[in-house]
Amino acid sequence: MPQEPDLVSPQQFASDNYAGICPEAWAATQAANAGSMPAYGEDAWTARAADAFRTLFDKADAQVFFAFNGTAANALALASLCQSYHSVICAASAHVETDECGAPEFFSNGSKLLVAPTENGKLTPTAVRALATGRSDIHFPKVRAVTITQPTETGQVYTLEEIRALSATCRELGLRLHMDGARFANACASLGCSPADMTWRAGVDLLCFGGTKNGMAAGEAILFFDPALAEDFGYRCKQAGQLASKMRFLSAPWVGMLEGGAWLANARHANACAQRLAAAVASLPDWSAMFPVEANAVFLQAPADQLDGLRAKGWRFYTFIGGGARFMFAWDADPARVDALAEDIRSLSRLAA
Ligand SMILES: *Cc1c(COP(=O)(O)O)cnc(C)c1O
Repeated sequence: MPQEPDLVSPQQFASDNYAGICPEAWAATQAANAGSMPAYGEDAWTARAADAFRTLFDKADAQVFFAFNGTAANALALASLCQSYHSVICAASAHVETDECGAPEFFSNGSKLLVAPTENGKLTPTAVRALATGRSDIHFPKVRAVTITQPTETGQVYTLEEIRALSATCRELGLRLHMDGARFANACASLGCSPADMTWRAGVDLLCFGGTKNGMAAGEAILFFDPALAEDFGYRCKQAGQLASKMRFLSAPWVGMLEGGAWLANARHANACAQRLAAAVASLPDWSAMFPVEANAVFLQAPADQLDGLRAKGWRFYTFIGGGARFMFAWDADPARVDALAEDIRSLSRLAA
């Protein structure tokens, strides 16, 4: 099909969801389109994708499920840990709290999210302990789980030591640990560690691994490292409208992403582009990074007129976190466009100086 020139605009970095489908996911989708196959996940692609996860995570008994998006993955994962009278500790800035329209509470029939104030969106053992032990009477929803976002919504990465310390606290208090890994690959690339070390070997019970922001059209994987926790999870997915009838188109892209290492290469590229922008604007007057750049996000604080000036130059960005400009980089980020953005920021900064 010919390209539609009117629909293609210069690359923007407002969201990592602006990116298209990476070649590896696309090729696997095309391969899965050859002929007919059993439906509802009974096909060979889905089995192969689940095996690819078990291999990548070095965990032969991991239970793997596929959902259409991250909101569903998080909400159903947390619901599987909780009864309606339970509660889940999260950071105040967590996606489950701020950007999922109450889906975790809805799908758990009312389990309450307990938010902790944090720096950089990172929960600490102290914060978890304070919320988990503050009340133990019958009138308060019983704390059952902790959810952390890796990397956080502002692009900070929990170190392995931090995850281990959190999981130790969870074990001690009888809580389960869930990881929202919408950008899990970016965290792995940033730490240079194995997926196993960042999850089950560090005490994480349950992971939502994001495919969409990693280069797929759609899809998140839910990994249970304790198979017992996965009991009946398939029913939960079906009831929530998350069981794809043509499952192979949700699972095959994962084969393309995981088997050849595209998941990690994509994330490394995205992280490198974030570093590239951060370095290019590091010493400009009026512009400052709001958070350490550890993954694929750069948040820049600047005077309102300069942010307006950047918009006037045609750049799109969100300011919903702390009023600064958020830039997100994906597998397809063009370094020349990153440089063009940096140059426009530089020219505004010079005008004002
Ligand atoms: C993008 C994102 C999700 C998933 O969002 P959907 O739009 O539902 O796919 C979940 N958690 C975090 C931290 C995210 O950034």
